[in-house]
Amino acid sequence: MHLAPLLVFAALVSPVSARDATAPPGPVIDMHVHAYALDVPPGAPACPGDQPVPVPTVDPREELDFSQLGRCERPLLAARDDEDLRDATLAELRRHDVRLAMTEGSPERVAEWKAKAPDLILPGVGFAKPKGDLSVEQMRELHAAGRLAVFGEVYIQYRGHAPDDPRYAPYFALAEELDIPVGIHLGEGPPATARFPGYDDYRVALGSPLLLEPVLRRHPKLRVYVMHYGSPLVDEMIAMMFAYPNLYVDVACNNWAFPRPQFHAALKRMVDAGFGKRILFGSDQMYWPGAIGAAIGAIQDAPFLSAEQKRDILYNNAARFLRLTPAQIAEHHAPR
Ligand SMILES: [Zn+2]
Repeated sequence: MHLAPLLVFAALVSPVSARDATAPPGPVIDMHVHAYALDVPPGAPACPGDQPVPVPTVDPREELDFSQLGRCERPLLAARDDEDLRDATLAELRRHDVRLAMTEGSPERVAEWKAKAPDLILPGVGFAKPKGDLSVEQMRELHAAGRLAVFGEVYIQYRGHAPDDPRYAPYFALAEELDIPVGIHLGEGPPATARFPGYDDYRVALGSPLLLEPVLRRHPKLRVYVMHYGSPLVDEMIAMMFAYPNLYVDVACNNWAFPRPQFHAALKRMVDAGFGKRILFGSDQMYWPGAIGAAIGAIQDAPFLSAEQKRDILYNNAARFLRLTPAQIAEHHAPR
């Protein structure tokens, strides 16, 4: 999804080092990182949710001035170039004690990131991507080669299709056959999506969590997490989680790029409904490496969560969802 939080310019972050004093007390699994090329202007600002997040309002006869989205007192700044984006993202993940990061991008770029941080990168391959997809057979080969661990991010909503559109049925079938977790986007696009260049096919209505139901009925063994918890349709998400006890959500992007009271209200609704064991942490880091710390901070700062609930969201739930072994979990809890 889009735009965000605090911290200084990512490029100034020191390279891989011991965990930072501001890191949460325990390891983190980030289920939502992107290995993109830097396709926003270098240093572009984004406003984090602990400050007033600008919400554009326009006269329909006027063009939208997107620069207003980055106007806040302490914006996050985008990386300088592709290399800086990679290195600063990896450094921020390390600094915040992230031990595993589901990282989505082209298989080539993800492999390049993984070469720099083999223990950290859990390779993700998306589908329904704006620039076209790999075939199901190519996906199968990547999985066999150890280069595909998660199907995500699944961008069907951005294409203006529903999750059960027959075009994508073979991908879900493969995920079930090979027991590959799927992370599907349901929720907001970039701010003022209808005016945002390149998002002509996005439709709000297709973000309804209820639209996932036919897929879950057809593939009862599928491991699925709804990225962005179908935000802001939290009631629908709760209805789905109630009926489908294997359904998880992530809280990526909502935790740093949306107004903090809105995010906390949604998170509290899901926890109060009893789903604290099925909420996964994600940052949705795209171009702003500082988003990782801001996203973790939004969980750590939630006044209604116990220390145990924070641990569940930041690590334990993902460890269960990914079926990590006791040895992997012990290793993640060992000091680096
Ligand atoms: Zn998304």
